Amino acid sequence: MLTSEEIRKEFLDFFRSKGHEIVPSAPIVVKNDPTLMFTNAGMNQFKDYFLGNKKAPYSRAADTQKCLRVSGKHNDLEEVGVDTYHHTMFEMLGNWSFGDYFKKDAIAWSWELLTDVYKLDKDRLYVTIFEGDGKEGLPRDEEAYNEWKKVIAEDRILLGSKKDNFWEMGDTGPCGPCTEIHVDCRPDEERKQVDGKTLVNNDHPQVIEIWNNVFIQFNRMKNGSLESLPARHVDTGMGFERLVRVIQAKTSNYDTDIFSGTIQKVEEITGKKYDYSDSKEAVAFRVLADHIRAISFTTADGQLPSNTGAGYVIRRILRRAVRYYYTYLDYKQPLLHQLVLGLSLQFKYVFPELYQQAEFVTRVIREEEESFLRTLEKGLKKVDDILQTSSLKKIDGKNAFELYDTYGFPIDLTRLIASENNLSVDEDAFTAEMQKQKDRSRAATAIDTEDWVDINKADRTVFVGYTELQSETQVVKYRKV
Ligand code: ATP
Ligand code: MG
Ligand code: MG
Ligand code: MG
Repeated sequence: MLTSEEIRKEFLDFFRSKGHEIVPSAPIVVKNDPTLMFTNAGMNQFKDYFLGNKKAPYSRAADTQKCLRVSGKHNDLEEVGVDTYHHTMFEMLGNWSFGDYFKKDAIAWSWELLTDVYKLDKDRLYVTIFEGDGKEGLPRDEEAYNEWKKVIAEDRILLGSKKDNFWEMGDTGPCGPCTEIHVDCRPDEERKQVDGKTLVNNDHPQVIEIWNNVFIQFNRMKNGSLESLPARHVDTGMGFERLVRVIQAKTSNYDTDIFSGTIQKVEEITGKKYDYSDSKEAVAFRVLADHIRAISFTTADGQLPSNTGAGYVIRRILRRAVRYYYTYLDYKQPLLHQLVLGLSLQFKYVFPELYQQAEFVTRVIREEEESFLRTLEKGLKKVDDILQTSSLKKIDGKNAFELYDTYGFPIDLTRLIASENNLSVDEDAFTAEMQKQKDRSRAATAIDTEDWVDINKADRTVFVGYTELQSETQVVKYRKV
């Protein structure tokens, strides 16, 4: 059986042999784009080439890109650990043509790689193409259809809507149809029973989308109309963990050698056994194996957990993970940081930045865990009290805010706990409470600064911006050594 490392290498070797420049992953943390906090697709680092702002130094490239999908347009957080193939952090394998090859080669190569190199069972593969959109005057993607027809039976080419099979970068800019490849991983017997109906992604947990090939051929203008682009591009993305799962013939991404080391380590630490089920305990194992990757790789790329912006996204993921082991694996000590070293060794040659900073990342995570564990127990007691006394179907804004402010519970953690108890959270009221607190601290600042000269006033404003979002229990400081 191919190991995950071999599978990644095969991908890069294959596209190298087709004239692609193999480039490194861009950092998972995006620093200079106001519209994006984290890299969420392989194409992010090439955006300027598609927009025509810069000329690509090569006409073909391939890589594996560290991605995170926990905020904005792509937020898969709630799926993680509950299903078997959505992660927070994942690797997206990709190949690109910048004004070079187009549909014919892209489709032929993806088929060649999957069936000749990886030897996937052709009978389990399906593809989708864009069906067109009358309202927009967009035609069906005949070109892609005709290319697929050369290698796959026509009844395995399905038509997809604009939602799934047309890609746009934003309200304006480069866009175009895409074709996606799906794998039916159901056991043979089950597949036979429902013969005649072709299932795609989301129809069944064992039928999963693995590869998206986007053909950038239009430019969306400000007035909404589409123009054909003079230079046409290819942008593809394949979920590495999903590919490995299919090649290694597992029923879950977590059963591949990408995650098994971490799961084993959690077993050793907690003395519990991962049982592959849908139990809360098994979900906790999967959540930890997933979340530690997101936390470690973002920290290694310079985004420390904090109380604002991208840093708060990381803190939220971390606290979510802490609560999972605390409640469902009955482990009351810091756990996550113990997983960093193993992970860093696993990725030593692919993403050496984690290995190089393993000690630092371990320390950051341990301090974060210790900090949250100081208030978690009391916070969970508070939740119990709320649940006992609450005759309503909702956790009210005041309580949600107290959990946030005093016990460090991010609102999505409160939401998760509430939903486990068939309750919801009054989030509008929570936001209103947050606002009230901001107003209070602003008012306090106004009084404080009255006697100060302007220059000090400016200093103080910066300082208050920091404290108003950071309640005392949540302050953690790091020093890089
Ligand atoms: P899905 O429909 O399964 O959510 P998607 O259509 O949102 O996937 P794309 O934006 O097309 O995904 O990304 C390209 C590929 O990246 C997908 O075909 C899939 O293999 C992989 N991928 C997307 N999201 C995730 C995720 N959260 N975890 C792991 N792999 C993912
Ligand atoms: Mg998705
Ligand atoms: Mg999809
Ligand atoms: Mg897709």
